[in-house]
Amino acid sequence: MTEGSAPLTDLHPRDLPQRRLLRTAVPGPRSTALHDRRRTAVAAGVSSTLPVYVERAGGGVVVDVDGNSFIDLGSGIAVTSVGSAAPAVVRAVSAQVEDFTHTCFMITPYEEYVQVCEALARLTPGDHEKRSILVNSGAEAVENAVKIARRATGRPAVVVLDHAYHGRTNLTMAMTAKAMPYKTGFGPFAGEVYRVPGSYPLREPVPLSGAEAAARTTATIEKQVGADQVAALVVEPIQGEGGFVVPAPGFLPALADWCTRQGVLLVADEVQTGFARTGAMFACDHEGVVPDLVTLAKGIAGGLPLAAVTGRAAIMDAVHPGGLGGTFGGNPLACAAALATFAMIAEHDLTGAARRIEAVAMPRLRDLARRAPQVAEVRGRGAMLALELVRPGTLEPDAAETARVARECAQQGVLVLTCGTYGNVVRLLPPLVIEHDLLREALDVLDTVLTGVASTSSPT
Ligand SMILES: *Cc1c(COP(=O)(O)O)cnc(C)c1O
Repeated sequence: MTEGSAPLTDLHPRDLPQRRLLRTAVPGPRSTALHDRRRTAVAAGVSSTLPVYVERAGGGVVVDVDGNSFIDLGSGIAVTSVGSAAPAVVRAVSAQVEDFTHTCFMITPYEEYVQVCEALARLTPGDHEKRSILVNSGAEAVENAVKIARRATGRPAVVVLDHAYHGRTNLTMAMTAKAMPYKTGFGPFAGEVYRVPGSYPLREPVPLSGAEAAARTTATIEKQVGADQVAALVVEPIQGEGGFVVPAPGFLPALADWCTRQGVLLVADEVQTGFARTGAMFACDHEGVVPDLVTLAKGIAGGLPLAAVTGRAAIMDAVHPGGLGGTFGGNPLACAAALATFAMIAEHDLTGAARRIEAVAMPRLRDLARRAPQVAEVRGRGAMLALELVRPGTLEPDAAETARVARECAQQGVLVLTCGTYGNVVRLLPPLVIEHDLLREALDVLDTVLTGVASTSSPT
């Protein structure tokens, strides 16, 4: 299934040109026709950032049904880190689909599921003994982490942070911070979920070190919940939908220490940050933090739906046989894709690729921030980078400007996403296999859109 040291050309679908090309207005006539059809068939609650309908995607581009080729700075929300239709993933899934498509691991198991769990034990932070369960989505992974933590500790409470995003199921809606669009009208929500302050350096009323922010977090838990009631503290090591918020250095290690002292399980939600995205295999690795449980999804399987909880053997195995599972969990096609994805990350040094993307993009974004007064901060790690936009001279979030930037980038053939509690963060999540020239071209477009000036002098 793996093929030694594959040539670099093996990173992209061979016949998909890596270029930005606009043939029509955005969206074009075929996309517009599909969008009209969609309105009579697809529920209105499912929305799309950019209503261009996709025909192909791979490497650093997404091609729509009108023949427009966009530079992809979104990776389908940090999913296609190895590229969409990565050749090695296509081969692995094609071979598996011929063998069998499903048996249900809970009925008659198969080796690929075991292999993925073995790999997760090896790849995730810490060299202790681990176990894993495979499921279908990030939210389902978080749900299972909470089930496991409650069963293992015998405690009811789950603590989450301000600006957190953990999913859209009933329990994970309760754990997610932002009301609109994720929660409004969907209650009542699951109980025993408590929200406390985290670390958001740009928006602290007074600057706080990581240790000080963590002390505020844990003091709030002790006062309002009681440490001995808490099964799990669930934390995104870099917050995703909440705004690519990188906590102050030392915040995560201090939380980990407190959890150990209090018998609280630290659950790192690495659904968005995992699998080389931030320039390390997992974002926890940057500060040497070893969580008790890790939730994984998005970038795990080259675009196929797969998710996992990986954790300390004694905690994971505290659940009685039959207590965990699901019909599709660890689908064999998704497992084959995950194994090919792990092989690609290793063979092509995609953690290094994420750091090289940061090295190309960060200086340009910082230079841009000096010229664009609406950029309050440039932040992020590896290929998970963001610009927070405000009204110049204030910290007042500017969601309208953020939406304009995303819209105009799309009209110029660059796909960028937005996020943030206040909707005012432009986020960049390029596939880790994007060619640097293509990345530079996309950053030029972003620069022009933010400054209103054609960029010619960005440093390389
Ligand atoms: C996307 C995300 C989830 C939810 O994952 P789904 O697969 O959409 O259910 C959970 N946690 C984090 C940090 C995420 O970014």
